[in-house]
Amino acid sequence: MPIQRRQKASDVFANTKWAFRTKGTFEQAFPNIADCRIEVTFEGQSPLGGPDVRIYTKENASEYVDCKNPLCYNGGFNLGDLLRAAEAERKTEVDQWMFCQGYEGSPKGRRNYGPCGANVIVKGTITYRANIEPQTP
Ligand SMILES: [Zn+2]
Repeated sequence: MPIQRRQKASDVFANTKWAFRTKGTFEQAFPNIADCRIEVTFEGQSPLGGPDVRIYTKENASEYVDCKNPLCYNGGFNLGDLLRAAEAERKTEVDQWMFCQGYEGSPKGRRNYGPCGANVIVKGTITYRANIEPQTP
């Protein structure tokens, strides 16, 4: 039987007001961020072999980076939260693990077979608009 696609967090939250999905909404969500370049490294290999690294900038960043686990329901890595936290502290570098918020479940999420457990490494740089002074510690 083919694996039916589970909804990911980006689908579940697609219609909420605070979620951003495009460049225009990125700039509304993060008015102080001039640009960012975030590398998300997934576990396992990319479909072409080698490490599975995806690059997100304000052109393609969205609230959630989808989890790759095909059985995972409501999965994803909350890039939006990470960026909001970084912006609040004017952090110019991020380097941390993120864990999937989803669980392995039936296609519509009614049955919960346990947490997904997938994780990614998130590394990147963020630049802020020039009129914002960096905070001194
Ligand atoms: Zn997951």
